[in-house]
Formats: sequence, structure tokens, C-alpha cells
Amino acid sequence: MRASLAIINLSNLKKNFSNIRKKVFPAKIMAVVKADAYGHGVSEVAMSLNSLEKKPEYFAVALLDEAIELRKAGIKQPILVFDSIANSEIENYFKYNLIPTVFTKNDIVLLKSSKQKTGFNKKIFIHVKVDTGMNRLGINYNDAFEFIEYLSYQKEFIIDGIYTHFATSDVYNNTFAKLQLKRFKELIDRLRKKNISTGMIHAANSGAIINMPDSYFDMVRPGISLYGYYPSKRTNESIDLFPVMSIVSKIASVKRIRKGDTVSYSRKFKASESTNIASVSFGYADGYPRRMTNKSFAIINEKIYKQVGVVTMDRIMFDVGNDKINVGDEVILLGKSKKHEISGWDWCKILNTIPYEITCNISKRVPRIYID
Ligand SMILES: *Cc1c(COP(=O)(O)O)cnc(C)c1O
Repeated sequence: MRASLAIINLSNLKKNFSNIRKKVFPAKIMAVVKADAYGHGVSEVAMSLNSLEKKPEYFAVALLDEAIELRKAGIKQPILVFDSIANSEIENYFKYNLIPTVFTKNDIVLLKSSKQKTGFNKKIFIHVKVDTGMNRLGINYNDAFEFIEYLSYQKEFIIDGIYTHFATSDVYNNTFAKLQLKRFKELIDRLRKKNISTGMIHAANSGAIINMPDSYFDMVRPGISLYGYYPSKRTNESIDLFPVMSIVSKIASVKRIRKGDTVSYSRKFKASESTNIASVSFGYADGYPRRMTNKSFAIINEKIYKQVGVVTMDRIMFDVGNDKINVGDEVILLGKSKKHEISGWDWCKILNTIPYEITCNISKRVPRIYID
């Protein structure tokens, strides 16, 4: 196996889950494991959560293919697919017992005709997606009552859930998130007054779990918080979270360069005095963005060193000065040593992004090692 690894700390994952559980109780939890569990490995993450005494009640993914993968990994809980069913092989929802997201009359037509064609003889469990302001997927909240009422008359369907998604819940005390919540609540109240059965009501992503306790309803949908990060720097910090992924490697080579020598493509680093350059087998093809060139750091033997020269596809270099660094010494690119930490947020600062993008982009060729 190569020296560069993504270490996935499953006990941190379980700690995060349990801390979220405590915070939202008695609401249930739909664990969001889309995009290969934000890059952490979907089957290992799901199995690990399922080893808990109080497992997630539901799982959710973005795509039908991701849901099939989760079923094939042996997950028995209900699995919701966030994607629209248009353009998908609908019979797979029946075959693998997956819950489609529904929000148009055409969805209803497509599901009915697929049910007929395949001879699927049970009721179809669906969740209705309501758009309260995100303007991505879902039926507009103004039209949602009529749509759900219509759906409730369709004998082929069981409305197992109704949900919405916040655009700004990662900002504490946000007025737009509050407006979205108000729109959603009004809809749910109206449905209840008409005795229309709604199934599980859910709205809260990680931001809302942290910032908006009045948005929990029957169930919450944590993603990034499971993996140990707050969704932004503008939430409160009412849940203890522990990053699950770290990236480690070993020094592959060390070489002496002289004053004026340059490192890597385009000669973007020039030594101001003679120094040692250590190289590490990790590059942009592994998910170490090229934009980190000359800006990022690593922990080697409990000291922080600067990354120098253009980040290449397979390799990055560090200026280790005159310190005694040997081939094979451990390098922490992301994560904690005894004294230091390079957090996802440190990468985010350089990259002007959020931790989601960093863990998702650690590529498939980086072996995931699971520790517990
Ligand atoms: C990704 C996603 C979530 C989880 O969001 P986090 O911010 O990662 O907690 C919840 N709901 C929907 C619809 C999503 O697409």
C-alpha cells in the first residue's frame, strides 16, 4: 500500500453521532452519507453507525446509484434519495426498496407507470420535497398544500415524509432561515388541520441542528457534522465535534538545495539560502489542491513546515531547513499530532471553501484506513 493514507477515525464518527443524538432528542436521525459519506467511505461509515445501540433511523444519499450501493452493503434502514426521479431507472427504487423524493405531478405519473410495468404490488413510500426558498429542488411552498392533498388521494402511495432544505442555516440567527422555517411550519399546520397524513417531517441539516432547535420536527438530517465539522464559522458551537478524516504520509525523499535554486514546475519557490527539501507522495490527483502552492503546511516530527513549489499531480515538497528529517518520517497533512493541528479549516482559509469540499475531494486512489 502507498505511504499516503486517509485515516478514518470511526470512534470520532460515533462520538459525533451520539452528540448530535443528545442534542436533537427525541427527534430521529437520518444520517446523510451521500458522495461516499463525504469522502469517508459509505459502507464503512454506515456499518459503523449501525454498530451503535441507537442506530440512525434513516439514511439519505443524493443519487439512486449511491442508494443501491448502500443497500448492497447490507443496510436495512429506509434510504431516502434526494435526487429527482426524472431521468433515473425508476424500477430500481422498487427493486432495492428505496424512497424516492417526489415533487411534481409527472413524478407521480412516472412512478405509477413503472409500478404497473414492473408488477410491483406494494404501496410506494415517498417523501415530498418542499421548496421554501432554496430554489433548487422541490415544489414551491405556495403550491405544496394542493400537491400533497392530491397525492394523499393516490391509493398507490404512502406519504412517508415531507421535507425542506435551508439555504442559510449555517449562519446563526439568520432571518432567511427563519422565514423558510415559517413557510414550512405553516404548510405542515395546514396539512394537519385537514388531517392529511404527513409521515416524518424533517428539515434540519447540520447548520439547523446547531442553530435552530425549533426546526427539528420528527427527524434531522446531519451530514458534515457527522464527519466532525461545523458547516461554517458562523454557527454557534453547541455540539462537540471531532474531525473523522486525517491525511498522513511518509517522507519519500530529502535533498539539499543551494541558495537561488528553485523547486517544482514554473520555479515558483526560490531558496533564499541553502536548505533541505522533503518530498511527499501526495498531489492534486489525491485531492491536495494546486491552489495550496506555497501556502500550506505539514506537521513533521512535531514541527510545522511550509509547503514550497507548485503542487504537482503526485507530489508536494516541504522546506525542512536544516532539521534532521529522514526518509520514512511521518508527515501529517491534515489532522492532529500531540502538539499541533492542521485542520480542514486551515485548508479552507487558503482555498476559500468549506470542509465539505475538502473531504469529498480526497480521491479514490488514497487508501482509506479505518481505526476505531
Ligand atoms: C447534503 C444535504 C444534507 C446534509 O447537509 P449538511 O450541511 O452536510 O449537514 C441535508 N439535507 C439535504 C437535502 C442535503 O442535500
